Amino acid sequence: MQGSRSSENDQAVSGLPFADRATEAGYRTYFLAQDRRDAIIAIAVFVFFKATFSVFDLMFQTPEQADLLLEARFGFAGVSILVMMLFARVRNASQYDALMLAWVLLAILSNFFTIAHRPSGHFGFLGTSPMLILLLFVFFRNRFNLQFLSAALLTGSDFFTVLALRTPLPTQTLIQTSATYALAIIIGAIVSWQLHRARRQYFATHSNENRLRARLQELAYRDELTGVLNRRSFLLEAQVLWRAAGRTRQPACLLMLDLDHFKQINDTLGHEAGDHALIAFAKLVQSSKRPSDVFGRVGGEEFALFLPDADAGVARDVANRIIRECQALTANGQPSPRLSVSIGLAAVSRADSDLRATMARADRALYQAKADGRGRTALAKEPVGTGA
Ligand code: GH3
Ligand code: MG
Ligand code: MG
Repeated sequence: MQGSRSSENDQAVSGLPFADRATEAGYRTYFLAQDRRDAIIAIAVFVFFKATFSVFDLMFQTPEQADLLLEARFGFAGVSILVMMLFARVRNASQYDALMLAWVLLAILSNFFTIAHRPSGHFGFLGTSPMLILLLFVFFRNRFNLQFLSAALLTGSDFFTVLALRTPLPTQTLIQTSATYALAIIIGAIVSWQLHRARRQYFATHSNENRLRARLQELAYRDELTGVLNRRSFLLEAQVLWRAAGRTRQPACLLMLDLDHFKQINDTLGHEAGDHALIAFAKLVQSSKRPSDVFGRVGGEEFALFLPDADAGVARDVANRIIRECQALTANGQPSPRLSVSIGLAAVSRADSDLRATMARADRALYQAKADGRGRTALAKEPVGTGA
């Protein structure tokens, strides 16, 4: 556990994807909303400039060519707006990657289409493309390799234009241009790598904290041996149901369950067998209760079960079923001794001042069940003052 956690952090420091696929998927999902928003901003900025630059179509081209270029330009802008709308609907990281790559390829093609129609002495794109490379690295925070691929494709298409479609440039200008592109790629890649690393570090810390919080909560809420609610959280949860029963006037019952002659089990079979018996009994009740019932270990071999929406008849059936099923359990896997449980049952009454009052009545009924011979259910007396 310790080892895997620290290796997760080490990887986050390097900026590489997390080795654990689930962690990597969690990381991508965690930042998806932010990534979608940034992608939309980046496309909007790009489309705005692209639309503004249409003025050059009018300046440099014949009217027919200008029409064609304007159509292509605004066609691209239209598709980009559609892509922005699709980005808003992206639900997972792979959809994001696919959409991002599709739009980037379209943007590069659209750029290439425009510059291929420019006069052979026109080199304006050499100034704007490096900026687009930075935009790709900084705003599309998906996988580093996709950012890199996009930058490489754009650079490739521009250099093809310069070398094949333009009047040859002086060597010095060509070197300077290459250096500008290389700088844009290097700066973009470094900034992007740092962003990746910072986000991964943040995510690793954030998920470690969440794990720790969940573990602490688990420790505070659950009984360590049996895994069911401990006394404190049973009281908290049952109190909520108890109040709701008072408000809605729905019947509700409380069972106090105490394993019989448990000391003997410890004395004859050992404490470990006793522990196993407690675990087996808790599992039996926990797995058969309704999801709305609240069950907890309130003492050593004492448990409590709160049954909302159940009258005394239903609660008695539940109690008797638990008694029957408990008889099938043994502490050590041998045919004997079998476990036995006694149950005190109290129906929540309006005369009870609080949950503890109901519990006290169920407790007294439990003593009665013990006194009557154990392995049975006893019904609590109605509290004084109900007139029943
Ligand atoms: P009764 O039928 O009257 O309830 O008798 P009992 O022996 O069950 O009741 P008693 O209160 O005399 O003894 C309860 C025993 O439960 C004593 C204690 O050692 C044991 N016990 C409490 N907590 C644990 C536990 O976590 N593990 C184990 N193995 N035993 C426990
Ligand atoms: Mg007991
Ligand atoms: Mg007891």
